[in-house]
Amino acid sequence: MDIGRILKGCTCHRLWYTHFMKAYPIPNEKTSLYEYTKEELRSWLLAHDDKAAHAEAIYEGLYRLRVRSTDEIPGIPLRLKEKLAPFLLPRPAIATRRVSKDGTIKYLFRFLDGQAVEGVLLHYEHGHILCVSTQKGCRMGCDFCASSRLPYAGNLSADEIVGQLLAVEEKENVSIRNLVYMGIGEPLDNADEVKRSLQIFTDQHGPGIGARHISVSTCGVVPGILRMAEENWPCRLAVSLHHVDDQKRSQSMPVNRKWNLSALMQACKTYTEKTGTIILFEYALIPGVNDRPADATRLIALVKDIPCRINLIGLNPLQQGGPGTDEEAATRFRAQLQQAGLFASKRKALGQDIDGACGQLRGQFIQEETK
Ligand code: SF4
Repeated sequence: MDIGRILKGCTCHRLWYTHFMKAYPIPNEKTSLYEYTKEELRSWLLAHDDKAAHAEAIYEGLYRLRVRSTDEIPGIPLRLKEKLAPFLLPRPAIATRRVSKDGTIKYLFRFLDGQAVEGVLLHYEHGHILCVSTQKGCRMGCDFCASSRLPYAGNLSADEIVGQLLAVEEKENVSIRNLVYMGIGEPLDNADEVKRSLQIFTDQHGPGIGARHISVSTCGVVPGILRMAEENWPCRLAVSLHHVDDQKRSQSMPVNRKWNLSALMQACKTYTEKTGTIILFEYALIPGVNDRPADATRLIALVKDIPCRINLIGLNPLQQGGPGTDEEAATRFRAQLQQAGLFASKRKALGQDIDGACGQLRGQFIQEETK
């Protein structure tokens, strides 16, 4: 019996869930089988007098065959199916789905605890990219971000992060091979669960997404960057830079008051040295604020010792409370970086007609819930 499936869509699911958990206590502190990395599953199997090797078949059943009940996992003995029976295979419900004229699809995922986060499926020439959320809100307070104006309701667990991919793949009948952790939340403020979700996403018996096709984006949480470097997380690092002087950055992104540009750049340098990979710097162009030639000159100086790529982002109007990015200034800015030998690309602002900015859908959801 897949109770997660039965509960999905039910308006009083929380009551049912509580009732079920009292009636059928599970043999472990974790309730969702998606919460386990393969190594954790191997340990669980050994602790429950079973063969660790079954973890591979379980993973293939969950992530390749996408079974909706532990009963359906092939290649494992009946006695193990019985042990696994109390586990849930929950996936977030897609409460809202909006399709943009440019093909971008925005989702509002709703979890069993009633909380909601956003995800975005982008279509680029080389395939689909799914942007996932990592927290139910965000504590970082960036002034250009709709998410920072909404209540913070805690971290997503690894299975809630992974569930966003499973839900979208099932809904759209697509295989997603590229992921960005750029939705609601600061991934390095939820580092343990983000790391575990990366281990699941990249597992060769699981979704099997290549580490080079996953980017974790931070607003500049320096200890988290150093941890990523130390533990060699299976992903690439993206840093939301956006400003090149401490005063402006601290005003716009409070994280900079704790770890300023000098500390951030030092951590980025350490990261590239330890991992041998480059960093992607995200730079949202705000007209008259950070898109002038002098800003480009400062940016060039700031990243000169760091192997990197610069991704210039065109802003949606809400993200900066005024008109969108000035395209002429953006072209000039990019050319200046390129002349200095930097690799700079410009990303179009997608999904502008569907409340594409991070947090807008969740904001509407919270408003409706509290009416
Ligand atoms: S931009 Fe990212 S880190 Fe900043 S408040 Fe929004 S979700 Fe949080």
